[in-house]
Amino acid sequence: MEQVHFLLVDDLEGNLLSLEALLRRDGLVVLKARSGEEALELLLRHDVALALLDVQMPGMDGFELAEFMRGNERTRHIPIIFVTAGSADRQRRFRGYETGAVDFIQKPIEPDILRSKANVFFDLHRQRQQLAAQRDELEAATRALRDADRHKDEFLAMLGHELRNPVAALGGGLHLLERRGGGERAEAIRAQMARQLSHLSRLVEDLLDISRVSEGKLSLKRERIELKEVLRSAVEANRPHLEAGGHVFVEQLPAAPVWLDADHTRLAQVIGNLLNNAAKYTPAGGRVSLTARQVAGDAEIVVADTGIGIPQEMQARIFQIFAQVEDHRTRAQGGLGIGLALVKQLVALHGGTITVESGGPGEGSSFTVRIPLAAGASGGVDTGVERVD
Ligand code: ADP
Repeated sequence: MEQVHFLLVDDLEGNLLSLEALLRRDGLVVLKARSGEEALELLLRHDVALALLDVQMPGMDGFELAEFMRGNERTRHIPIIFVTAGSADRQRRFRGYETGAVDFIQKPIEPDILRSKANVFFDLHRQRQQLAAQRDELEAATRALRDADRHKDEFLAMLGHELRNPVAALGGGLHLLERRGGGERAEAIRAQMARQLSHLSRLVEDLLDISRVSEGKLSLKRERIELKEVLRSAVEANRPHLEAGGHVFVEQLPAAPVWLDADHTRLAQVIGNLLNNAAKYTPAGGRVSLTARQVAGDAEIVVADTGIGIPQEMQARIFQIFAQVEDHRTRAQGGLGIGLALVKQLVALHGGTITVESGGPGEGSSFTVRIPLAAGASGGVDTGVERVD
């Protein structure tokens, strides 16, 4: 919570000091001015919750200062308490009376009365600060909701396009098969249809998984599994992508078994997704690597590439659903920005973490997954062996 500022104006230093001592409390900063001019200067620099003005001062007196304050947009609503010596002061008409809280307090000052009046303004200011903070939070939440809503609209539009293409291709293929019958051409059509169908099913499966996760309906089938088995399944399932991209693929896996209590299929899906992305976002001839090792109580799996990299400002958002780097769209191969969101959720369900590192555009990317080892499985020796495919 920000400090609350009170302004005390009195030409006598002794009065200022005793008022300050009287008002002292946590969270309060007392600003002291020996003249109206000094006070106006302080008011320019600080947001003041209450001004205590001595009425009788040489030069600009308390009433004149108050009139100045009321005439200025920035200071017109500052509550004022006049400290007056005699009842004659009360007679004086103060023109700014109607614009804000004004009160009078008689000298000699009764400490309890002054303190309780000042506390009211302190509390009011605090409440106003809280309201402002809540308003800011609400505004941020509204902005986030609006963004999410816009993303969802964009996503639906993209999804529409993505579903239409393979569906049209499948329809066209069927039509051709009906007309042409068998033969080599038919085989090519069938292969193309199979590719479209697998793209379509992957899209639909990812979508279903995302909604299962957000509804809390995705449960893991955990069992004691060995990390290398999982990695092998992931590599095998994605070998066609890696080969099609013309990349050098490098594996570095631990020699000793690394045991996890994990869902084999889901973990392979995580690594497969990262490998698939590495292949997609790395131009031909680049290098994709899969490294795994045991670090303290975790299995650490790193999928790195020498591809197009991820801009710094996108790295924090890359695991959010629908997040895609604008310049990468041409390489997304029909991806909709749900893969990494799903990966993150699946890793979290395993009690693990995922992080990304990239030096920026053209500098490659590296994704690090950490999954806790199975209970009682830590302490193995990690000896890495390298195999180049
Ligand atoms: P998509 O289906 O678009 O690939 P993902 O959720 O898998 O969706 O990835 C989100 C975005 O992150 C991608 O659109 C791409 O911009 C960026 N990205 C993911 N992996 C990499 C990578 N290895 N190199 C560069 N950019 C990547």
